[in-house]
Amino acid sequence: MSLKSLNWALVTGSSSGIGLEIARSLSIAGYSIVIHGMESEEKLTALVKDFTSPTLVVSADLSTPEGALKIVSKIQKQNLTLDVIVNNAGFQHISPIESFPVDIWQKMLAVHLTAPMILIQNFLPQMRQMKSGRIINIASVHGLIASQNKSAYVAAKHALIGLTKAVALETAGQGVTCNAICPGWVQTPLVENQIHLKAEKENLSYTQAKHQLLSEKQPSGEFVTTAQIASLIGFLCSEQSAGMTGSALTLDGGWTSQ
Ligand code: NAD
Repeated sequence: MSLKSLNWALVTGSSSGIGLEIARSLSIAGYSIVIHGMESEEKLTALVKDFTSPTLVVSADLSTPEGALKIVSKIQKQNLTLDVIVNNAGFQHISPIESFPVDIWQKMLAVHLTAPMILIQNFLPQMRQMKSGRIINIASVHGLIASQNKSAYVAAKHALIGLTKAVALETAGQGVTCNAICPGWVQTPLVENQIHLKAEKENLSYTQAKHQLLSEKQPSGEFVTTAQIASLIGFLCSEQSAGMTGSALTLDGGWTSQ
């Protein structure tokens, strides 16, 4: 079977956390997966050695447009057509606005907003031609509301939801949908860092910091799981979700209901 004839899903930031789980579950569902991360291609290949569907690995830093264009070029060189794009790569930086480093601000916008735009811009024409495609942007509760000391992340995630709505309008009625998922706290390396920072700053144990982090924001008192997010992705990739586009779907243990 040629690789071109398969159904391909690109998941950015699929070397870790939420992205890795999404990639694994789409692979189980039968998609061939473009795996992406900042690690070397050897490391990425080792990470997905148990995947049962074909994979293509791309190592790229998305903090400049060249990183996103590297993904585009690798996929186009293989002559693959994408059925699904999951824009998931992301990072956090915590700092008051007065001292927020401008280079990190720019990197935040590049990874969370410019890279998704470049990937959508390059792969949408094929989706339009096929009259079929699913674009899913992993935003955050911080795409809907704010928290202190996360100005760049909050701004970037709000903008990503704006991009989601704009693309939904430009593709409506063409077999392509574009939606955003807005998770609350999910226990991944991105949040582990924040738990450790909180423990250090407030002189707490790891367990106390984890408990406080949850209880301050997430009424369920439990982390959202990567499996729950992957399951929502499964729905968004299905025919049953065809009428849903331009939505920002919360999966947040009640965070944004407060
Ligand atoms: P993670 O740290 O486990 O994974 C982040 C992924 O993004 C990794 O694959 C990493 O290589 C990639 N990445 C980071 N910076 C990059 C860069 N400059 N260039 C290319 N790739 C880069 O984090 P996660 O929690 O799984 O986060 C995944 C997404 O979910 C992010 O967009 C994050 O904002 C969002 N999110 C996470 C939570 C949470 O509580 N964990 C909540 C809401 C939204």
